[in-house]
Amino acid sequence: MSTIRSAPRIVVVGSSNTDMTIKAPRLPRPGETILGGEFLMTAGGKGANQAVAAARALDPRSRGQVVFIARLGDDVFGRKALEAFRREGIVSDHILKDPDAPSGVALITVDSRGENIITVAPGANARLSPQDVDAAGHLIASASVLLMPLEVPMETVHRAVEIASARGVRVIINPAPAQPILGSDLLHHVSILTPNETETEILTGIRIDHEEDLPAAADALLAIGLEAVLITMGSRGVYAASAGFRELVPAFEVEAVDTTAAGDVFSGTLAVAFAEGKSLAEAARFANAAAALSVTKMGAQPSAPGRAEIDDFLRRNRS
Ligand code: ADP
Repeated sequence: MSTIRSAPRIVVVGSSNTDMTIKAPRLPRPGETILGGEFLMTAGGKGANQAVAAARALDPRSRGQVVFIARLGDDVFGRKALEAFRREGIVSDHILKDPDAPSGVALITVDSRGENIITVAPGANARLSPQDVDAAGHLIASASVLLMPLEVPMETVHRAVEIASARGVRVIINPAPAQPILGSDLLHHVSILTPNETETEILTGIRIDHEEDLPAAADALLAIGLEAVLITMGSRGVYAASAGFRELVPAFEVEAVDTTAAGDVFSGTLAVAFAEGKSLAEAARFANAAAALSVTKMGAQPSAPGRAEIDDFLRRNRS
């Protein structure tokens, strides 16, 4: 029998972008035009990636839901994105259409070695306001988990955290792109943080060169009052730490094709695991499995696995 108590609700507040990628033999110099090769247009944005990953990872038997709070432009990109969120079953009542700003776009050039240059025009994402969050306040207040990357204005992130923490709702922050949030009172209200190694260094000043550096970095973050810290380390896995648990949970061995958005799939599926009442160890393993599956496929949102695929992968890879 399932032990799920009530239907889990995950609320994601964040960005949605359209990623336009050109593969080129090398990156252009300033003022230079070069002929590239393949062009790819895919759905992206950290908030949207995490919302989609969470929606696919929900156990269909749990009757859970993912609510996405975001701003899109009133343009073709926004319309396509909204259709895609609805197809995923994401609750889209609070995905707003901004009449005065275009949808977020990322222009990406990738060279033959996988090196890239990226320019993002945040457009409507930069206008997601504390008032937009207030309008969805009842959904945040009754959520199992609030999940936020940091690609929308910080005042908006603060407002959502305020609403959640006042009601004892668990808050997961994926501190990407890295922001100077240490020292702000934001972290005092956050339950769980999922930085990668670079973000960990920016937050703590501790460089993660060796595994021995991990406990000190985790301690520095736990000392702020966090319930748990999960430092993601690509193909090495994740260092998960709380007051009662401390372990480097190894990544699953897979053939990596494209690691774009691995961190987003990790955070999105981690939120589902916590919303379903899993322990830190179980949640880390669940998110590791989902993120490993995602790196075996191209693209950000196209690569996020479904629940059946994750469960099946975990059964086949019992340690
Ligand atoms: P980010 O994309 O934010 O830098 P990471 O690269 O640390 O995040 O990856 C996030 C998670 O994705 C890792 O903790 C791991 O679970 C999984 N992952 C990433 N790369 C691989 C890989 N090559 N093989 C297996 N799992 C991976």
